[in-house]
Amino acid sequence: MRKPIIAGNWKMYKTFDEAAEFVESVCEQIPSEEKVDAVICAPALYLPTLIDIADETDLAIGAQNMHYENEGAFTGEISASQLSSINVDYVIIGHSERREYFNETDEAVNKKVRAALDNGIVPIICCGETLEERESNQTEQKVSNQIKAALNGFTSEEVEHMVIAYEPIWAIGTGKTATADDANQVCGAIRHVVGELFGNECAEKIRIQYGGSVKPDNISELLSKEHIDGALVGGASLQVESFLTLVQKATEK
Ligand code: PGA
Repeated sequence: MRKPIIAGNWKMYKTFDEAAEFVESVCEQIPSEEKVDAVICAPALYLPTLIDIADETDLAIGAQNMHYENEGAFTGEISASQLSSINVDYVIIGHSERREYFNETDEAVNKKVRAALDNGIVPIICCGETLEERESNQTEQKVSNQIKAALNGFTSEEVEHMVIAYEPIWAIGTGKTATADDANQVCGAIRHVVGELFGNECAEKIRIQYGGSVKPDNISELLSKEHIDGALVGGASLQVESFLTLVQKATEK
């Protein structure tokens, strides 16, 4: 049995006070991590404070990006070893917004995954197709290429602890969700690729999230599907109540 994982991706939202208040109130009400992993991926600036607040609670704190080098002359960047030095648990890698607006390539994604793992941080590796790719039946090819590139050079023991987030680009922030069956089909295809590369045991263990306009009223149907182990959530992770509802509903999977 794979434990469900709900990760909030705050993107570039919330002031410092809003972020701290949110985490304080979520920590008081969060379901036990025995049943579900709950993660908030916050702006890097707030991470040390949020990690302090969430210390010894069932909420984990993650970053939204990192550089693949451990240190160096990379003005404005933050490394995996720096994130690890403040006890960050998770990091989102290769979000479509980073691929689109910051020219993040499959090769950079692969290097970032390596750096995250070497520093004991669980990567949430994003993949997904554009509307054009979906309409020309290229979804599975695109996603499978992204996953093969991201996982190049790893062992099955490493891969089984990673998280993959399937996020169709056309569903992010648009209010359009893939149908639960379509999302499950692509998550199943990803699991198949992982199985081919790293064996069935690894494919059965790796957790695959769906992301793209996940809300309290559609999460249960998505999570009822075999290959969907959780959600990466943008908009609906910004309010305490909706984030808690998503985490609570995931305990019922
Ligand atoms: P959304 O964002 O839930 O607002 O669609 C998802 C994401 O970008 O991870």
